[in-house]
Amino acid sequence: MNENAPQTLVMKFGGTSVGSPQAMSAAVQIVKNARAEWNQVVVVTSALSGVTNLLLDTAACAAQGDVSSLKDAEKSILASHQAIANALIADPNLRARTLEEITVLAHSFVELCGAVAVLGEASPRALDAIAGLGERMSIRLLAAACQSAGTLAQPVESTELIVTDDRFQNAHPDFAATTLKTRATLTPLLAQGIVPVVTGFIGATPKGALTTLGRGGSDYSAAILGAVLPADDVWIWTDVDGVMTADPRIVPAARTMPEISYSEVAELAYYGAKVLHPKTVRPVIEAGIGLRICNTFNPSHPGTRLVSRASGAKAANVIKAVTAIRKQRLVTIEGRGMLGVPGVAARAFAAVAATGTSVPLITQASSEQSICFSVPSESAQAVLSSLQATFAAEIAQRDIDRVWASEDVAIITIVGAGTRNTPGVAGQIFGRLGQESVNVLAIAHGSSDVSISLVVNQSEADASVLALHELTAN
Ligand code: ASP
Ligand code: MG
Repeated sequence: MNENAPQTLVMKFGGTSVGSPQAMSAAVQIVKNARAEWNQVVVVTSALSGVTNLLLDTAACAAQGDVSSLKDAEKSILASHQAIANALIADPNLRARTLEEITVLAHSFVELCGAVAVLGEASPRALDAIAGLGERMSIRLLAAACQSAGTLAQPVESTELIVTDDRFQNAHPDFAATTLKTRATLTPLLAQGIVPVVTGFIGATPKGALTTLGRGGSDYSAAILGAVLPADDVWIWTDVDGVMTADPRIVPAARTMPEISYSEVAELAYYGAKVLHPKTVRPVIEAGIGLRICNTFNPSHPGTRLVSRASGAKAANVIKAVTAIRKQRLVTIEGRGMLGVPGVAARAFAAVAATGTSVPLITQASSEQSICFSVPSESAQAVLSSLQATFAAEIAQRDIDRVWASEDVAIITIVGAGTRNTPGVAGQIFGRLGQESVNVLAIAHGSSDVSISLVVNQSEADASVLALHELTAN
């Protein structure tokens, strides 16, 4: 081993990066190159693209008693794994063994869905057991493909590494227990020069029940493993060049940002940029580990580096990126009787929380005569009912005049360090929207150092993003 080589690299491949023979072949080459440059390489992979959705959709049908698509789902999952195995696993014994293991997992999918259909319901725990099968299949395939390319590799189930609570479908890791288990399992493999190929997305309770970390959670798995090993760098391989200044489907001129700070990307992740799972950032920042996003289909592109602090921005270029979240409604509680009455906001948000809805944006006028916040459109009716029940007495006494929700709106978020502290940024933003004749319905500015969010009618979302993107630094 080269003493001077960087030590430990964790690389995560997303579903599209392993979803076809061409993609997985590129991933295998990337692993091989990394192995030549790093002393220790750990690979984390998602399920083949589309597989998790198919598993969960089929399970949802089964819960309704409909198993008509079950056999086809099994066939299609087996076929996509088989096509890759045929293309990338040269040794017939290794190929047969790998496909046999995948067939056993596919069979347990059929059995679990059968049980769900009999029960007429799918518990969160059963759904996790089903959803996690995709990764349990993909690690076997990717590890064998790496072996075939001459890289020592071994599949590892993260149920042996990541210990979580029992919040099925959105489990929370126990970092102390995870550190012990991960090191105990991975260190001996790494010492022998083996690349562990680990399931993303899944963990297990202390009693061993399989849990998942939430949809898209493989990025988070890589961050957790990177933090507890610890690794020097975590690279997320995906199908775009990195984090972009806007969604390129809306803004053709969108560019890849070479560098973005953790806090900036956290705003982007929250506001719907699909590049990185929002929970990924925290474990790596806390451990001081590097994070990079790169493109499996364009591996020579440097991608985007996540840095702990944004580089000093001048007024002219504080705006780095613009995103939109759609399908929101603005809920307003208004009434002259709210002025100076403590506890209205607390009760309002307790009533919202009781519906299981989270609130991405809040504003309140200083007159205290109205509170306004956004909720996902599909939750708006439940939120209104809950607020009306909570404030029934105030509404009857006319202290609260009205609780109502808008039509669909979009939250536009402008991200860049210094948006709060740099004079003139808000002026630029509202000036530009004014030129487009976009009406701004609400503004939230100040709670984050690195973003300004505003609300517009959903029909004006694209025009707003396009116009504001012109303000980003080149
Ligand atoms: N396969 C899982 C999902 O589709 C996890 C991931 O890909 O990150 O949600
Ligand atoms: Mg993802």
